[in-house]
Amino acid sequence: MAHTLLRVAIPRPLFRFYDYYYEGEGIPQIGSRVRIDFGHTEMTGLIIELPKTSSVEELKPVLKLLDKVPLINAATLKFLRWAANYYHHPLGEVIQNALPVALRATRQIPTSLKWHITQTDQSETLKNAPKQQALYEFLCEEAVGIKEEVLKQKLGTSYKNTLKQLSKKALIASEICEAEFIMPTTMLDNATARLQLTKEQSDCVEQIKGIANSDSPMPVLLHGITGSGKTEIYLHAIEPTLEEAKQVLILVPEIGLTPQLTQRFQYFFPKAKIVLLHSKLANIERMNAWLAAQTGQADIIIGTRSAVFTPIPRLGQIIIDEEHDASLKQQEGFRYHARDLAIKRAHDQKIPIIIGSATPSLESYYNVQSGRYHYLLLKKRPGARVQPEVLLQDVRGLPLEAGLSPPLIKAIKAHLEAGNQAMVFLNRRGFAPALYCPQCGWHAQCKSCDANMTYHAHKQKVICHHCDYEETVKPACPDCGNTHISTKGQGTERLEHTLQTQLPNSHIVRIDRDTTQQKHALTEKLKVVNAGDPVLLIGTQMLAKGHDFPNLTLVGILDVDQSLFSTDFRAWEKLAQLVIQVSGRAGRAEKKGTVILQTSQPEHPFFHTLLTGGYLAIANQSLQERKNWHFPPYAHQMLIRANAAKQEHASNFLQDLKDSIAEHASTDCILLGPAPSPMEKRNNRYRFQLLITAKNRKQLHQMAQEMTINSENIKKRGGLRWSIDIDPIDYS
Ligand code: ADP
Ligand code: ZN
Ligand code: ZN
Repeated sequence: MAHTLLRVAIPRPLFRFYDYYYEGEGIPQIGSRVRIDFGHTEMTGLIIELPKTSSVEELKPVLKLLDKVPLINAATLKFLRWAANYYHHPLGEVIQNALPVALRATRQIPTSLKWHITQTDQSETLKNAPKQQALYEFLCEEAVGIKEEVLKQKLGTSYKNTLKQLSKKALIASEICEAEFIMPTTMLDNATARLQLTKEQSDCVEQIKGIANSDSPMPVLLHGITGSGKTEIYLHAIEPTLEEAKQVLILVPEIGLTPQLTQRFQYFFPKAKIVLLHSKLANIERMNAWLAAQTGQADIIIGTRSAVFTPIPRLGQIIIDEEHDASLKQQEGFRYHARDLAIKRAHDQKIPIIIGSATPSLESYYNVQSGRYHYLLLKKRPGARVQPEVLLQDVRGLPLEAGLSPPLIKAIKAHLEAGNQAMVFLNRRGFAPALYCPQCGWHAQCKSCDANMTYHAHKQKVICHHCDYEETVKPACPDCGNTHISTKGQGTERLEHTLQTQLPNSHIVRIDRDTTQQKHALTEKLKVVNAGDPVLLIGTQMLAKGHDFPNLTLVGILDVDQSLFSTDFRAWEKLAQLVIQVSGRAGRAEKKGTVILQTSQPEHPFFHTLLTGGYLAIANQSLQERKNWHFPPYAHQMLIRANAAKQEHASNFLQDLKDSIAEHASTDCILLGPAPSPMEKRNNRYRFQLLITAKNRKQLHQMAQEMTINSENIKKRGGLRWSIDIDPIDYS
């Protein structure tokens, strides 16, 4: 038997690979999984190379070859290797990230049986067995055979028995084939009537098609104001790709939005096979969707960030909706940005990519300015719809009720009475962000984090929003015994409470993480809102994006002032994105929308710039500042984080790491730290960070590589954990 050498990447935080040999049935190939003995545990790795020789003296055999056909094709593996290098993350873990959970261990790819008739039409002989006759005649029509799943779909549960009887009579036979991973039930018979594109939209589509036809298409940034009909552009843009029988990958930030989106794609392309890839799916469902993409069965793959790693053999185009959204970046473990990776993937495969947003990230906008991306602007809403009007409400000196000013409450009342819907946005859940004793100053603090606990009135608990630790509220202050405990500030729960008192006849729907935990809860709530009756919506971030509420005419935005004074150089960008995205939920139908932005800083230059110049004015001004200060995108950053049981364990490690590269660090690099993270203690771990800024990306990568190597020789105490974050967007 043949004896093949294999190099295997394993899902462990190790930057090296391991050699094994294979002896047995089948031919091991790059991209197939193998079961191996590693140390004293069994695990599943992926073959990444078939080396001619190995420096290992006593090679072990693999325990089992799990895939006869590679699970990860060559182009995808190359892409994963690139990602592992770029983010300085072990390839084995990157591969693990790319695989659906159900395929991370030993499960084999499901197969199916394909049935066909064995001789010329014998249906006459089945006259007395109508079920068998029906199935037989069905098979007669398809000379190449029909898969079991399809027969089951057509004939119902008794199909198995009928097949058995026919096969006993030797009238039909079967062979093993690829399983059918998508059932045709989701497809529609007919397309619904298409919208007539506006002139602006059709101009965009024409340009996109032109670019798509070039040999190495330039990425397109589609900047379309909220409600301008970007989805319609995506639909038209991918039509030629689907007609060429190629597959399309669509990345979206959040899955709450995909039901609506999926429907629109299915209506536009009734015959297309569409699959969804996201973390709310059951493991088997997700595996089937992934395999549908991987085998080429799916035409359109709609997924959240990790879908960017899916092997797609006939990938012809990529779309990223809401490209500015922070959830496209994974913030733990393997810290990658799906947008940046998608751009790289499209570039390597020479396929068109569109990234769209009403509020493009400044990184992407900068790429437009420097000529790397093509820019398209949609500045109108179709039809009679107009952008909502944004009004600043100065709250200084006004009597606030749970943070709501009298003019805002009055406006909400008026809009509801006129039969419309209103929404109040506050990005904080719970009743109040602090519970304290007015007598002695005691605050309910998390014992594991440097953070106040949030008071949740309904549960009568204080909960830490950083580590989820919770405690039942005690009747008296634990320090002085005072029984008049008080709260400070407000969250959505309190808003609901106050507004229900102020507007007793209104129907309030609160949407936040606490009210949508149960499966379908969000769908049910959105259904109520979409029914169109006067409803007052209260919500957090979850309401900020994507949703289309036709009857919503008023939006109130609370508590934005803090971000005006943030030290994060992205604060303006993030705040402008938030205000525009939240505002964009209003005035979606023919009714004009109004936005009331409460602030005690109405003269702040941020508001002036945003209200007079719009998003691009904020973008241009922020870019100018970043240029002056050498911040990204004019420089490149990486953030090294460490956490441990004691402060000195974390800070000493980072100091040693910094010292180990100090002599190589060029004068173009700025090393800041080690310094405590903004939240120094979290979940009983002390957190420190080292921020490195460099003009030149290469230098940054060299340093990252050196640190990875040097870290092996640095003492790690207190259960130290550390990580590299390339192109960080969150510094907490
Ligand atoms: P965006 O994603 O840019 O915020 P959507 O794609 O959700 O906007 O479109 C907003 C609304 O406008 C949707 O209800 C959509 O059906 C509608 N729409 C888009 N294009 C047209 C058009 N050409 N004519 C009429 N309605 C349109
Ligand atoms: Zn007290
Ligand atoms: Zn905590």
